[in-house]
Amino acid sequence: MSNISEFTLCKIVSGIKKKDFTSEEVTESFIKNSKKSKKLNVYITNCFDEAISSAKKFDKRGDFKGLLSGVPIAVKDLFCTKNVKTTAGSKILHNFIPTYESTVTNNLWSHGAFLLGKLNCDEFAMGSSNETSFFGNVINPYGEKLVPGGSSGGSASALAADLTPATIGTDTGGSIRQPASFTGTVGLKPTYGRCSRWGIVAFASSLDQAGPMTKNVQDCALLLEAISGYDPKDSTSIDTKVENYSSQLTEKVKGLKIGIPKEYRVDNMPNEIDNLWRKGIDYLKDAGAIIKNISLPHTMYALATYYIVAPAEASSNLARYDGVKYGHRAKGNNLTEMYENTRSEGFGDEVKRRILIGTYVLSSGYYDAYYLKAQKVRQLIKSDFNKAFNDVDAILTPSTPTSAFKIGDKKDDPISMYLNDIFTVPANLSGLPAISVPAGYDKNNLPLGLQLIGKAFDEQTILNLSLAIEKRANFKKNFKAWWS
Ligand code: GLN
Repeated sequence: MSNISEFTLCKIVSGIKKKDFTSEEVTESFIKNSKKSKKLNVYITNCFDEAISSAKKFDKRGDFKGLLSGVPIAVKDLFCTKNVKTTAGSKILHNFIPTYESTVTNNLWSHGAFLLGKLNCDEFAMGSSNETSFFGNVINPYGEKLVPGGSSGGSASALAADLTPATIGTDTGGSIRQPASFTGTVGLKPTYGRCSRWGIVAFASSLDQAGPMTKNVQDCALLLEAISGYDPKDSTSIDTKVENYSSQLTEKVKGLKIGIPKEYRVDNMPNEIDNLWRKGIDYLKDAGAIIKNISLPHTMYALATYYIVAPAEASSNLARYDGVKYGHRAKGNNLTEMYENTRSEGFGDEVKRRILIGTYVLSSGYYDAYYLKAQKVRQLIKSDFNKAFNDVDAILTPSTPTSAFKIGDKKDDPISMYLNDIFTVPANLSGLPAISVPAGYDKNNLPLGLQLIGKAFDEQTILNLSLAIEKRANFKKNFKAWWS
């Protein structure tokens, strides 16, 4: 049999059901690959022994009720997992073992999956390159010197390198879609409120969403279906029906209207990105969709708005790490000194930068000028989308302004690092669902993704459009496992 770890999630689910292979064989295959791939540095914690025993138990019991029966899955280390270390990529949580399970991971396990391990990520999900992790940077399987994107970089690399059949990440400003684009994989940020945030280490609560990262669109629909749903434990969770995304998935998109926002044609955008965008337009035209030029006039303020709102919320969320309640504690001669030493030692530079910016924009005298202004602009950005969606069913843009860049290239230049998120942050600020689907390569043979942004709770339409693009782009990964 060919290598199971190269199969899609759907093929693995149906193979286990048809008894083409056992859950144990599947699990062994991913573990074997993972052990050969240490160089990519994707795992913070592996649960390989526990996964094998879960697989054996599954094979004995043979319970096929769930959508993911018998499937091992590794997840971003931002999801709290009961009795399994959860670090958020930070020194301050390097020894934190939650006594509870996040709702989204719990949904995976209720559907018959089990945990393969916890994947590396930027510290507290702050970053676009996975270089801010306390556990070291992750390597992109497309090249030894390349970042995988961030903050869900460990998830994206593990998926692209066949170390997990699918995975979940979180997306506050692009952390699912940007690494998906950099690694030739599919990543979807659901509508705000679609998936529960309960038990996910908080970064910016009004923007954070969990979502699926998969090898293709069909897998993405299946995984989204498994993790979505109302959760009374999250006050921002919305009680609305979860669609059967996977069975309703269709590439029939004839007559759908697709908006092309002129503001996303940014200065200095490489030709290749522009060409990819044109190709995407052609693919959708070929599928019978109608293309319309639209305007989202406040797009130019989205990045600045995001980098005020996100740090403001982060500075408040991260106040809880004081050495008393969670994780690392440093010594000090009195309480204040203990707090100061704990936070100085426990947080990395990028996290400290965000706390400083966030505290500044929330402080008296600056609150109105920065935070309140940003909230108002956020509303304008959202109303641009509301207006556009009177005329179109979805919006097509590139996912990122470049392909994967080199490790170290932007590390000391936060502004150029933040510019990476230019196409992804508007969907978070507006709470809208958005997906990145691999659609081509640049001249260096690095993958590029296209983004589809949908109406609130209309994940199905962007999944269907992505399938139409996927069928036409015929994207195939083009690297060998050079690291093993
Ligand atoms: N790169 C963005 C940031 O650093 C987005 C991160 C995310 O989506 N978690 O804030």
